[in-house]
Amino acid sequence: MDGANASGKRYTGTVTIQASRLCRVAILSGQEGVEALRQELALRSSDEQWLLVVDGMERPSVPPGEILLVLSDQDAEAAWPWIADESSYSERLTLPRDFRSQDAGVIADWVQRFGRLHQERTSLRRLIDRFEERIKRDSGRVRMADLLQEANHRLQEQSVRDGLTGIPNRRRFEEQFDYLWGRSAGEGTSIALILTDIDFFKRLNDSLGHQEGDRCLQEVARKLESLVVGEDDLVARYGGEEFVVLLWNCDRARAAEMAEKLRVGIRDLAIKHPDHPAGVVTISLGVSCDVPSLTSSAEDFLHNADTLLYEAKSAGRDCWKMGPAVPSAVVD
Ligand code: GH3
Ligand code: MG
Ligand code: MG
Repeated sequence: MDGANASGKRYTGTVTIQASRLCRVAILSGQEGVEALRQELALRSSDEQWLLVVDGMERPSVPPGEILLVLSDQDAEAAWPWIADESSYSERLTLPRDFRSQDAGVIADWVQRFGRLHQERTSLRRLIDRFEERIKRDSGRVRMADLLQEANHRLQEQSVRDGLTGIPNRRRFEEQFDYLWGRSAGEGTSIALILTDIDFFKRLNDSLGHQEGDRCLQEVARKLESLVVGEDDLVARYGGEEFVVLLWNCDRARAAEMAEKLRVGIRDLAIKHPDHPAGVVTISLGVSCDVPSLTSSAEDFLHNADTLLYEAKSAGRDCWKMGPAVPSAVVD
């Protein structure tokens, strides 16, 4: 069998699906009925405009994304050796020996269905690709939103942190103080505020240099922060060499205990201070502790701590002062 039909003509056909050339068909047979099949396919493709018939013996080239259907008889390999290689086509249908013109419609149906199936698969693939692309784009947007959110978060973090020491700044303290004061007033719980100031800090700068002064501030901040561990408690740099400690739900006994702990903690750091009677860095502290009431204000509470700090300085530094207990009549 040499692939020639009754009239000695060999046929190869190319089927295109809706002008997008997704499916090609090679008819490799000279059997009776093949011409009818070719005509049948031509007819259907002219209806749907997806068949283009070309003559040829060579293996049709198949562009990427397109498929090749082979319709051949059982002896076709002799005339078209390339069909021995299964990877050279997408699908092969071997026509039966007794294939007749009247069978052309059935085979054409199969080709048509196969072509449409492929077309559907291809358009589905394209749809999926488009969908995936969109997901990627959308998830890119989500990622961008995450990044933006993170950047905003960092910005916000930076705006409430002190640049030198890395601990919360005065702004953050004010926010938290406002919040805790209101909460304490509402719940009738006690709150403590400790204002602390490094003793003779100017002298430390003068004797060791500003850089050493900065390093001292960092060390003191770190130490204070390590000693204040309550979830709602806060240590912030109030300004210069002053720090503020907020203690939530803290009674006078605990406030006094904490003040002493902070004082000793800083002294025990043993940061060298050549121009200090103690030889090391110390702090003084003023402690306000109260249950907020209708007659008390947060400003007065803070001012009270400042006054007490001044008293501690006057009393010789390296010590803490706490005001008298507030009479219970005021607390209620
Ligand atoms: P006192 O014991 O009465 O508190 O005396 P003091 O010297 O600590 O207080 P004073 O207010 O006289 O001096 C505070 C010094 O703190 C002056 C200022 O230059 C220094 N200072 C403020 N902020 C910084 C800072 O960020 N880094 C450094 N190195 N020094 C600072
Ligand atoms: Mg000061
Ligand atoms: Mg000072």
